[in-house]
This record gives sequence, structure tokens and C-alpha cells, in this order.
Amino acid sequence: MIKVFYQWGLEEDFRKISMVGQHMALTRCKVALSGGWGEGFEVGGVGEFVQMHFADFRKLLYESALKFGAKIRTKVMVESLSPEAAKPCVTLASGEKLYADVLIGADGLCSISRATMLGDADRMTRKKLVLFNALIAREPMMADPDLRSMLTDNQYSKFILWFGGGRGASGFATRSNEYCLQVFARDNDYPFPVSTVDKQELIGALGPCELRLRKLAEMAHNVIAVPIIDQPHLEDWLHKDGRFLVIGEAAHPLTTGSTYTAGLAAGDGMMLGRLFSHLHEPEQITPFLTAVEEQRQQRIARALEIQNTNPVAMSMPAGVEDNKQSLAVAEQIERMSESEYNELADEALRAVFAYDPEEEADDWWMQWGILQERSVKIVPVTFETITVVEENEQV
Ligand SMILES: Cc1cc2nc3c(=O)[nH]c(=O)nc-3n(C[C@H](O)[C@H](O)[C@H](O)COP(=O)(O)OP(=O)(O)OC[C@H]3O[C@@H](n4cnc5c(N)ncnc54)[C@H](O)[C@@H]3O)c2cc1C
Repeated sequence: MIKVFYQWGLEEDFRKISMVGQHMALTRCKVALSGGWGEGFEVGGVGEFVQMHFADFRKLLYESALKFGAKIRTKVMVESLSPEAAKPCVTLASGEKLYADVLIGADGLCSISRATMLGDADRMTRKKLVLFNALIAREPMMADPDLRSMLTDNQYSKFILWFGGGRGASGFATRSNEYCLQVFARDNDYPFPVSTVDKQELIGALGPCELRLRKLAEMAHNVIAVPIIDQPHLEDWLHKDGRFLVIGEAAHPLTTGSTYTAGLAAGDGMMLGRLFSHLHEPEQITPFLTAVEEQRQQRIARALEIQNTNPVAMSMPAGVEDNKQSLAVAEQIERMSESEYNELADEALRAVFAYDPEEEADDWWMQWGILQERSVKIVPVTFETITVVEENEQV
């Protein structure tokens, strides 16, 4: 999906803030599995698997949106929204009302969009799991003989997944001078949604573990704890009045720390934007929003299936969740041959990352959009009175 950002002319900007994931390894939390790094992977010819700091990504999106002409109002809170088709509008905390032809709710997990669509039916369940997000500087890692091989000297980086024993972790470079460790462990009633914690909390949650994991935890600075919650997906993304669509995490919250969520949220926006490039009359709005809902719901369902069943899915490490499916997937890893591993990695990458939401919008437009447009344009043809001039008439 990164290819779309590159097509928009942002490749150089992305290169400055990101690393390209190229090698992957799976290992146990307790004892390192023997074996080296998997073959370099490519995302099916449609781009790269890029790793970056979320704050850098947000900043780049913000600056690019301004460059492309978007008007952004910062430091304003939306207090309520009215999706009525005739005059959709949002009311700001200041009391100001903003009217629009269409409202897009991309306001995340605990949002007014979800409240509007679900009302009391929205529920948040804590999963007794916590995600620790820790940052580690490159220099001490380079100085350590056990950790040095996890880094590279170029823009291509390595992704490592630890699993087993009710814990799991992933490690990857986000910048050339910074490494990120995400650890899933049992929750200790950390405050929701996020808190900064001492690295001793992380070390304690890991317990006895593989040497590299322990060393990374000891070197960590800036550790945050995010309790993992479960929230229902919206069955309907489009409001019944037809002029309000919810996208991104507000519509389909995934497990905290999943490597898929930001990409899937971006994909919703990309498809929406591409369809709206064909807009020339208001009657097209609702069919476009319906198309985004239908197409993207299929895509999200496929990603979830992969996330829950594929052991190399690069989402939450297998065996972390205390349920049969997660434990069975962890066991499967132990028995996997190299070719099976490569096949599963390929399947996961293709389903989750190797597609182009703009192309999907174009396909929909060619298959349905043009057709719908023609069908509404078939209106009775009326002829104005034509003055017939006799051939032999002298004018
Ligand atoms: C610790 C952590 C690690 C993560 N790691 C990864 C990762 O490795 N890979 C990945 O893909 N994803 C990751 N994610 C998830 C990722 O951050 C989200 O999936 C993604 O940001 C969702 O995008 P979104 O646009 O739907 O919502 P958000 O990014 O949540 O954006 C919602 C926006 O709406 C604004 N907003 C909300 N309510 C209002 C209101 N009333 N008025 C005005 N503005 C409002 C918010 O301020 C925010 O700017 C991680 C998340 C966390 C917490």
C-alpha cells in the first residue's frame, strides 16, 4: 500500500523517516530457535513493507495534506454530529456548526462516530493483556555482540517475532538510529488508554526469557503500557441517512499494536479519495460511500482471517491469547518446514499489504460506477420543435 503514497510523490519523504522490512525471523520467548534470518521478502511487486515511528508518519501525512491543499483546523473538538441527509453537520465544542455535503468519521477508537452509529451497543472489554511499547537506541545495541546482528547498515531492516509461553514480542528498526520492541504480556491493571512506565515493569512482565529480549528490555528508554481491549466492528459503516461514513479504526478496531491497523485505515481513505475523484453530481455520493463500505469490509474480513490463523502474520504473536486458536497456531510454528513458512509469509503479505486500494476503486468504477451513471442518465428524450424548411423554399 506504500506504493500509493509513492505514486502521490511522497517516496523521498518516506525514505527519510522509514526502514524497509526485508528479513524476518520467528523464535521462542524462552529459548532462541536455531536458524538464521528468513529470505528477504518483497510485497508482491506492489511496494515495500516499511517500518517507521508513528509520530513521524503522522507528521508526514499532516504536512503532505497541507501541501496538497487540504484545510486542517487544529485544536478543535467535535462535540456532536448530525448525519441528516439534507444538511449533514458537526458541532464543535465552541458551538460553531460546520455544514458539509458528506461527513467522514475517521476519529478512532473512542469516538463520536462510534457513539453515533452504535449508541449504547458499543462496549469495550479488557483482554487481560497489555502491550509494552519500548524504544532502544542503536548505539548500545551495536556495542552488544548478541544484538548487533539484529541491525543493518542500510535502509533494509529485520523483523523478529518472539512467541510462546503466554507472551510474545516483535522487534524492528523504525529509524536508522532507533529500534522498537513491542511486548505482549499479562495485564497488571495499567490505566487505560496509555501510561508511561519504568522499564522494570517490562523486565518483570517478561520474566525469564531469551537473552536478546532481556537485553533489549534492559536497554529500553521510553516505555509505555497500553492495555489491550476488544471492541466490536461496525456492521454498517454508512449511516442510514446516506451521507455519513465511518472508516479506519472507528469502523474496524484491531488488536492494539497489530501491524495491520494503520495500513488498513489508510486503505479506506485511499479508496474513498479515488472514487470521489469521479464525483460530478451529488447523486453519486451515496453509491460511492456504499461501494467503500462493501469493498473494504471484504478486505478487512480477509485481513482478520489471516491475523487469526496465520502464524507468520506479523500481527499479535501466536500463543499470547489464552484461547485454543492462538495456542494451536503457536504449536503449528514448531512443526513448520521452511517451505511452509515461506508460503504462509507470502499469503499474509499478499492479503494484508500487497494490493492497491486505488486500483480497487478503479475496478469498481469500471464495473459498476459507469454503469450506474449511465442507467440514471437514461431519461425520456424530448425534442424541441424543429423548423422544417422546404427544400425548394426560397429563403
Ligand atoms: C502503542 C501503539 C502501537 C501501535 N503500533 C502500530 C503498528 O505498529 N502498526 C500499525 O499499523 N498500527 C499501529 N497502531 C495503531 C494505529 O495507531 C492506528 O491503527 C491508526 O492510527 C488508526 O488510524 P485512524 O485514522 O483510524 O484513527 P486515529 O489515528 O486514532 O485518528 C483519529 C483522530 O481523530 C481525532 N479525534 C477523535 N475524536 C475527535 C473529536 N471529537 N474532535 C476532533 N478530533 C477528534 C484524534 O485526535 C485523532 O487525531 C498502534 C497503536 C498504538 C496505541
